[in-house]
Amino acid sequence: MDAAVECTHCKVLMTSWSAPGSAIRYYQCPFCARTHSSLYGEVFRRRAGARVVEAPARASAPAEIPMASPEDIRWARVKASAAQWFARVEADERACAPRAATVTRVPAPAVPKLARARAVAAVRAKRKP
Ligand SMILES: [Zn+2]
Repeated sequence: MDAAVECTHCKVLMTSWSAPGSAIRYYQCPFCARTHSSLYGEVFRRRAGARVVEAPARASAPAEIPMASPEDIRWARVKASAAQWFARVEADERACAPRAATVTRVPAPAVPKLARARAVAAVRAKRKP
């Protein structure tokens, strides 16, 4: 499968990679960091987070599909590390003042965590004889 995959949340093409010698391909959105694997074709068929763009990436008109520029990707990384930093600060505050209930909660990145769990499950499934 060498088709382009689009993140249905951000409407951008996802970057893809695969381990050498592996038939499984992984796709990650440069904006929201959602990750999908070709093992879960269901995700693409149901368009639950990702969809296969019909034409191959190189053959399609670049103007029709918004691409993440290096600047966008850099900015997404800055936002991600800022979110991690805030989460750490929040954890520290909670550790220092357990009774401070007024601390503003920073939403945890639940979806990337789920994607990671899926990737781990995919690796485990692959190891089975
Ligand atoms: Zn996305």
